[in-house]
Amino acid sequence: MLKTDVLIIGGGLAGLAAGAALEGKNDYLAAEREQRAGGLAATLRKGAFYFDYSGHLLHLRWPRTSEFILKALGGNCARIRRDARIYAHKSWTPYPFQANLSGMPDKVKAECVSGFLKAYNAARPAPAGPEAFSGWTRRVFGDGISEHFMLPYNAKLWQYPLGRLTTEWCAPFVPVPKPEEVIEGAYGKRSEGLGYNTVFHYPKRGGIGSLANAVARNLSGLRLGLQVDSVNLKKGVAQVRHFGPVHFRRLINTSPLDEFISSAEDAPIAVRRAAGSLRHNTVYVLNLGVRGAKADMHWGYFPGAEFPFYRTGVATNFSKSLAPRGCASYYVEIATPGTPLDLASAEAAILKGLKACGLLKSSSQVVEKLWLKIPCAYVVYNRERAEALPVIFDWLKARKVQSIGRYGAWKYSFMEESVKEGLEAADKFLKRW
Ligand SMILES: Cc1cc2nc3c(=O)[nH]c(=O)nc-3n(C[C@H](O)[C@H](O)[C@H](O)COP(=O)(O)OP(=O)(O)OC[C@H]3O[C@@H](n4cnc5c(N)ncnc54)[C@H](O)[C@@H]3O)c2cc1C
Repeated sequence: MLKTDVLIIGGGLAGLAAGAALEGKNDYLAAEREQRAGGLAATLRKGAFYFDYSGHLLHLRWPRTSEFILKALGGNCARIRRDARIYAHKSWTPYPFQANLSGMPDKVKAECVSGFLKAYNAARPAPAGPEAFSGWTRRVFGDGISEHFMLPYNAKLWQYPLGRLTTEWCAPFVPVPKPEEVIEGAYGKRSEGLGYNTVFHYPKRGGIGSLANAVARNLSGLRLGLQVDSVNLKKGVAQVRHFGPVHFRRLINTSPLDEFISSAEDAPIAVRRAAGSLRHNTVYVLNLGVRGAKADMHWGYFPGAEFPFYRTGVATNFSKSLAPRGCASYYVEIATPGTPLDLASAEAAILKGLKACGLLKSSSQVVEKLWLKIPCAYVVYNRERAEALPVIFDWLKARKVQSIGRYGAWKYSFMEESVKEGLEAADKFLKRW
């Protein structure tokens, strides 16, 4: 019978960071069901191309995690200034839309600027209870920006009614400009510095997976191909597929919270019910190897209904090493509410869209492709989530379980935050929590 002090479920960045912080200090076992580490921050090779699970760029903001990540990457890291854009009304304009309307037709510009100023001058207070995203965007950005970008783009991304989506996730991801920035961005100079990701880091070679690989290399307690099928938190036993029981004293979970709770034999009915109310979307990523492409941006957002995708990017503009000479690597993201996507018709619509916006001249330029599916991609922020999380986390705390990472904590977060939570979860156990 296998015994460990700390069992870590998952070898994505959160689980790897927790393992790295425990390494040499405390007994642990990190069980990763796949035959590779990294979770979503992985890179797959197909033919002569390296593809990530869509763009995975490092936005570093905290000293400890920046040091951890940059040290793991050694010299294999480039610092890059963002060139992100929006394609709407048959024109490109720089990101963020609300502060860079210069590329839009005059009528759209006027609607957006006047709507913003009207909303700004009205200064309507937020409602007392939770505010829906659809009301928030009209109150803060006005009708023009909301109708030309915020509402159609977010409807495509979240695949959930925007009148029931809450706004706790917005602060770090949706920058709110000042009136002078909106006016200057529409009629004067470009506003470059707005948003959380004006500068990002990316490995020079090997794609984003080289970060996880570098961390995983030094972890003696990481086991690949180990899937945890169920846990009994009271007894401290996990059932591992094709392996049997693993006894643990303390647990760090990084697998999706809803799946984890449904695998917990001793979860009370109220906790199960809370987990059952959690919702997420599904994202399909079509990676394309393209010959002779002429695209200089990093990524672009597509609010228009004529495009099936909400975002596309050019990975070779982060790192030339991802494709052979003369070729580029694109990623294209389509979200669904969980319903299956007909890949053949989606691919035809993607190629049509890429040609319409000028990223592709002809389908014959495509020399490689790889579809990747992210079943649980963006967790939905709704009232049910706000009510469910305290019920679930109170029970987990009583069982001395830490559930962390983008899906373990059920939040809209990014790679650095998963690393941060992994390091901090290990700290907590090292301090005998
Ligand atoms: C479309 C998209 C684009 C993104 N772009 C960016 C970006 O540009 N920059 C950024 O910083 N972040 C980005 N992110 C977020 C980023 O992917 C995550 O924040 C981060 O990779 C999550 O790491 P994690 O370890 O928390 O979770 P995961 O990567 O999901 O790792 C969890 C691991 O647990 C394993 N697992 C699950 N269940 C079990 C089980 N029962 N037994 C054993 N193992 C199990 C899984 O196989 C997986 O390896 C993006 C996310 C998406 C969906």
